Amino acid sequence: MERMQQIVGRVRAAFNSGRSRPLEFRIQQLKALERMVQEKEKDILAALKADLNKCGHNAYSHEILGVLGELALTMEKLSSWAAPQPVKKNLLTMRDEAYIGYEPLGVVLVIGAWNYPFVLVMQPLIGAIAAGNAVVVKPSEVSENTARLVAEPLPQYLDKDLYPVVTGGVPETTELLTQRFDHILYTGNTAVGKIVMAAAAKHLTPVTLELGGKSPCYIDKDCDLAVACRRITWGKYMNCGQTCIAPDYILCDPSIQSKVVENIKTTLKEFYGEDVKSSPDYERIINKRHFKRVKSLLEGQKIAHGGETDEASCFIAPTILTDVSPESKVMEEEIFGPVLPIVTVKSVEEAIEFINRREKPLALYVFSNNKQLIRRVISETSSGGMTANDVIMHSMVPDLPFGGVGHSGMGAYHGRHSFETFSHRRACLIKDLKLEVVNRLRYPPGSMETIHLVKLLLVKQCNKSRGGQFISALLAAVKTLVAKVLFPRREG
Ligand code: NAD
Repeated sequence: MERMQQIVGRVRAAFNSGRSRPLEFRIQQLKALERMVQEKEKDILAALKADLNKCGHNAYSHEILGVLGELALTMEKLSSWAAPQPVKKNLLTMRDEAYIGYEPLGVVLVIGAWNYPFVLVMQPLIGAIAAGNAVVVKPSEVSENTARLVAEPLPQYLDKDLYPVVTGGVPETTELLTQRFDHILYTGNTAVGKIVMAAAAKHLTPVTLELGGKSPCYIDKDCDLAVACRRITWGKYMNCGQTCIAPDYILCDPSIQSKVVENIKTTLKEFYGEDVKSSPDYERIINKRHFKRVKSLLEGQKIAHGGETDEASCFIAPTILTDVSPESKVMEEEIFGPVLPIVTVKSVEEAIEFINRREKPLALYVFSNNKQLIRRVISETSSGGMTANDVIMHSMVPDLPFGGVGHSGMGAYHGRHSFETFSHRRACLIKDLKLEVVNRLRYPPGSMETIHLVKLLLVKQCNKSRGGQFISALLAAVKTLVAKVLFPRREG
């Protein structure tokens, strides 16, 4: 407890020194972070290989590119994001300065998950630095090599008092969570999300929770199945199914189920060859605990493809399950592995109903040539994000917020949204001490005439279609004001 108190105390003192606030300092830290990623590239790739068996190009495209892209965007846009945002004024505030000012929240805690262990701590860190905060970084202990890789070089490149890394598992995180932070961004499962939120509530600390859930994928009959299945196969089996926005299960008409299976099988061969196990592009399950959990989901199911497992190497082959009952275990919790169940539904109505009976997912996918059907699915369901006719890709658009809704999380980040998540939007109004006469309108003694006047000035002034009425009302109002100024005693 004492150790965490000391760490967070030191970070707060560093934040209170004010040095994290100037834009030049933030940019300098972001540049240092970019240098770290470039100079430690080989070590990062090696750590990802050791943790998740990610081959070089997959690790590069899944993790390093995302971080470099976010850094470049943030450094380019930071001055415009951080600039005060003037707001519309009215007759009463015409002479004043009214704007939204962005200020750092203070000391932020970023807790990462193991499945994309580098990008999931780096991307929030970039946003939090950009917004001028101090940040305590807590990588996931489950991907221990990447955690070490974040912990060791980060203090060599960044201000070590402002941005320390805390490593360790549940006891360390539990202890850390007793400390007071000004914001917590947690990525991980929903059950721990509740623990994080409860701990944060003790200090009234706001949270961003990046959780998971079962992301549905509806395939319409009117659809190019070969293309749809190639895209689904890519998103489902990348990182061995351990992707928070991977399509969790497929909903489709019974008449196309076997064609879906055939198309996915063909694509799997195209992607990973005859022997998936020896493909450099196919990852492994993170550890034995998760291996056993995913394997147990196959029990009693109709396996249309795959199903082979090897505990020693935590290998589970890309697997497709058909005619899956909505009540079965595999349909209860997020799969987070390379197992793709197909549940048949007879219509889009049934698919929508199926989705709406469950918790709001992190992502939702729909494949169809019919744009109207796509819009219908969007308007009649809810999810953190969605892509039509592809999977995963909404998370790659930097201007789109990335986050969940309901049980899949709260708050969002990426690009400008990260900057806003880690900033306080402060309402600022700067007046001068002149024209006190106008303020008489709000000072006592009051009257209904004054109320009418204020109503006119604030509510009706914009209604151009009533221009004549407005001018005569304004004249009456000015008369009232003059009367109030010249003969203040007559009122009340
Ligand atoms: P995990 O086991 O790495 O846990 C995440 C973090 O929580 C770790 O840093 C860990 O130390 C901490 N933690 C674990 N148990 C804790 C406890 N009892 N008290 C306090 N802290 C604790 O990751 P995970 O939860 O297995 O991650 C997988 C889940 O995360 C999936 O549900 C997935 O969908 C979700 N996920 C979401 C996103 C997103 O961006 N929305 C991204 C990746 C993963």
